[in-house]
Amino acid sequence: MSELAYTPLDEIEKIHSELKKGFYSGKNKPISYRKYQLLQLAYLIKDNTEKFEEALRADLGRPALESRFMEIGPSITDALKAYKGVDSWARPEKPGFSITFTFMRPIVYKEPKGVVLVISPFNYPLWLTVGPLAGALAAGCATVIKPSEATPAFSSLLAELVPKYLDSDLVRVVNGAVPETSKLLDLQWDHILYTGGGRVGRIVATAAAKHLTPVSLELGGKSPVVIDPNCDLETTARRVLWGKIVNAGQTCVAPDYILVPRHFQDKFVDALKTTYAQFFPENAKPNAEGTYSRIVTPQAFKRIKKLLDETEGEIVIGGETDEATKFIAPTVVKNVKGTDSLMSDEIFGPLLPIVPVEDLDEAIAFINARDHPLALYVFSQDPVFKNKLFSRTQSGAAIANEVVIHPGADGLPFGGVGPSGYGMHTGKFTFDMFTHLRSSLDSPSWIDKILAFRFPPYTPKGLKATLGLYPSLPARPSGPPPAESAYTNRWARWLLFGLAFAVAGGLTRKDKFLK
Ligand code: NAD
Repeated sequence: MSELAYTPLDEIEKIHSELKKGFYSGKNKPISYRKYQLLQLAYLIKDNTEKFEEALRADLGRPALESRFMEIGPSITDALKAYKGVDSWARPEKPGFSITFTFMRPIVYKEPKGVVLVISPFNYPLWLTVGPLAGALAAGCATVIKPSEATPAFSSLLAELVPKYLDSDLVRVVNGAVPETSKLLDLQWDHILYTGGGRVGRIVATAAAKHLTPVSLELGGKSPVVIDPNCDLETTARRVLWGKIVNAGQTCVAPDYILVPRHFQDKFVDALKTTYAQFFPENAKPNAEGTYSRIVTPQAFKRIKKLLDETEGEIVIGGETDEATKFIAPTVVKNVKGTDSLMSDEIFGPLLPIVPVEDLDEAIAFINARDHPLALYVFSQDPVFKNKLFSRTQSGAAIANEVVIHPGADGLPFGGVGPSGYGMHTGKFTFDMFTHLRSSLDSPSWIDKILAFRFPPYTPKGLKATLGLYPSLPARPSGPPPAESAYTNRWARWLLFGLAFAVAGGLTRKDKFLK
């Protein structure tokens, strides 16, 4: 493991006050300055791609392809997106016409929140640092980045590069573990973005509450995958297995467990076995260097291995482990019960439990009996099936026939709901997170001629004049409230379309999974 130099504790407060000074200097205000920094950020990554690949290999045993596809490319894209978007994102907005207020020149200014703290996790340390930083720079904030101590090679590299490319008056890296992060959390910030596990998330939210600091918590949890027998089985097996294998399952939106109809379980397992053999042919076993990531720390290895050792399910793929190299083979376990060790907590490793259920109703009840997941996946070709699952559950994202890559999709916010977190980011949503919408009016004197009745002494004539400000309402609703929500109606239209299509094609369901 590379040595990571921790920031001395007594420097942390100094860094905070230097950033405050930098923020109030006003140099972050011009959009041209922010664009300069954003382009520097993009070049910081581009110029040092190989160094980042090497650091991620050292920390996570990560194959270069995974680092490029999952982190390096998306990080450059995020910096560029912010560079291109900031002119319009930061433009003040005028609200629509209002007879009462338009002449008071209402306007919404997009102001930077101030000095913000970004605490990031080990699993995608570059993307989960650069994405938030791009939004903070675009918003005009000053930022402290606190990367994970579990990725020492990456965190050292970041601390070395940031001062070379970015303005140290406005961006600083603080490295360290619990004492350094606790010291940071004692200080007053204008926003904290924390990405990591729920246990630490609670510590962060509690510390922030002392200063009434707004917080975004990007947490994890168990993201289920519901398999409909009416799916494209080959594609399903390929995507689900890849979602579990990439970064050795250390992905917050990795498929955590599978819910499949009991009668279809073995067919699905066979498809996974075929895919596994294609992913790792005889001469390219996953333990070969550069083929497959490793578990980040010995402690994390022990935690995941314990889950595997204690399972009462049946291992059908993988199962091999090697403590010395922190290697855990991609492992599929079938006939797993809800009470199994593999269902006790987020796995965050390459183990894939399969929980057989009777039907979709049981799958929905299983999901709703647990914390709202960060992502809910379904593999199905059937719009009725997808609609039923999505409309009766809650999750950060609802994804059909795909896994893991949705946080990179343009225009989609990335965030959890309930125990999987609150707040959202990526692209403009990150800019919005670090932006204060500052309402402003500039009211001319002549307005008082119209609104004179508001001033004492209050008179009956004035009281009557207030009625003129009441809006007129549409006709009172009649009959009972409508049974379906607008959301369901929208899905229902697609449903009808899908049904008509299925009937026209002579498709009839033989299985009873969808009840
Ligand atoms: P973690 O919570 O252990 O650590 C994250 C950060 O918190 C690190 O920088 C660490 O130094 C700091 N930290 C650790 N203990 C602390 C303490 N006692 N006080 C203050 N700070 C402390 O998380 P991790 O293991 O790095 O990441 C794994 C978790 O992150 C998983 O649950 C995963 O699902 C989640 N995650 C979520 C997202 C998302 O966008 N929602 C993305 C990646 C990971």
